[in-house]
Amino acid sequence: MPRVHQPSPSEIAAHPREFALLRQVAPSGEVDKETLAEYVKLYGEPSKAAADGEISFADFAAMFSRPASAREQAGTNCVGWAAQDKSGVMAPFGFNRRPVGPKDVRIQITHAGICHSDLHQVKDEWGGSLFPMVPGHEIVGIVTEVGAEVSSFKPGDRAGVGCMVDSCGSCELCAPERSEQQYCPKCVYTYNCMHPDGSICQGGYSSHIVVTEAFVLRIPDALPLDASAPLLCAGITTYSPLKHFGLDKPGMRLGVVGLGGLGHMAVKLAKGMGLHVTVISTSESKREEATKVLGADEFLVSKDPEALKSAANSLHGIIDTVSAKHDLAALIGLLKLDGKLVLVGVPEVPLDLPSAAVIFKRATVSGSLIGGIKQTQEMLDFCAEKGIASTIEKIPIDYVNKAYERMVKSDVRYRFVIDVQGSLVA
Ligand code: NAP
Ligand code: ZN
Repeated sequence: MPRVHQPSPSEIAAHPREFALLRQVAPSGEVDKETLAEYVKLYGEPSKAAADGEISFADFAAMFSRPASAREQAGTNCVGWAAQDKSGVMAPFGFNRRPVGPKDVRIQITHAGICHSDLHQVKDEWGGSLFPMVPGHEIVGIVTEVGAEVSSFKPGDRAGVGCMVDSCGSCELCAPERSEQQYCPKCVYTYNCMHPDGSICQGGYSSHIVVTEAFVLRIPDALPLDASAPLLCAGITTYSPLKHFGLDKPGMRLGVVGLGGLGHMAVKLAKGMGLHVTVISTSESKREEATKVLGADEFLVSKDPEALKSAANSLHGIIDTVSAKHDLAALIGLLKLDGKLVLVGVPEVPLDLPSAAVIFKRATVSGSLIGGIKQTQEMLDFCAEKGIASTIEKIPIDYVNKAYERMVKSDVRYRFVIDVQGSLVA
């Protein structure tokens, strides 16, 4: 069986992408010849046959190197795909990441999920977008370098980064007991935001990222890297309100509106907690998969008034993930007395609040923003324990413009994940 020698720190620094691949192909160093050949075909230079016996890391790296057109952009240490303006058209873009500081972790990105928030922001639908913009806040990869003061990560570890990369670290929301950094007034979002030094943050549709240790998550070994990327936003954004609003008790009846990236994670997580789940969707075509594959108990088509009537007064809570303007009265009609409607979708225009519907149900209408770092780690560990990951369509990075077009049409089952390591060579 071929055995690949572990690289030295200088070899890792010279070939971080190939090191990240080695950690996946052969974490212990050993790999059977067929598997190695398969990986070379996918991620390497197909004309290079997989060697047998002892393989030096230099030979392994050569097997996986690819000509990189993007790498030719001079003066930049990172390659990504960016939108230059609110047309939202994505194209290759070279830029600089900061060097690894004492508290920093450098991650070679292997996969990045595509969230609808990426699309809202590259199109400036929420206003104030900063360009050029490299989106992406569902990031997973392999650690290739750590600063001198970093204690919880080392090169070779699997790591993730979600929607934020820093916060003040000293307010009551950032305190370890709360760990709700997403609500800190100085929270620094992963992209479309500024670092305290005034530089623009750039996200995960890129070859690597440097993040302070406190904002790096551990990806449990039981989870696949590609299908766990969406947990970093879609997963935590739906897990957090279930916990916060007490919608996590076995047997409770939950509605999930919109079966996209967030919605399908809400279904899986709620089923993992033992809830009875009803999907409320505009897409009849998602019925079969929702009930047979994702595990939903019931499926209602939101345009069918009879179906909604039959389910009136049946739900303890609803997680509403819809990304466009829609009617809330019909949804509140599904709630039991004292039911909770939690908005997580962020349409570009405000929704109308139907006061009578809220009043007659003594309903609570609320919202929730992603989740804190402590809870994100809790969610990842919960997913590992329950065998939950995202259902993904893996795409090369040059498919991103097409993926955005399809996402607007709700034509994704259920999350696009960019195969960064396979298609963005840097
Ligand atoms: P997505 O994958 O596009 O899913 C949205 C789903 O909403 C669609 O699949 C569709 O489901 C439904 N939908 C779309 N247009 C609709 C319309 N006009 N009327 C009714 N239903 C419609 O998006 P996502 O990535 O899950 O994100 C959803 C929203 O959450 C976005 O606005 C995003 O910005 C926001 N978000 C918020 C947070 C937060 O912290 N609160 C975090 C991440 C994302 P069906 O086909 O089943 O109808
Ligand atoms: Zn997101």
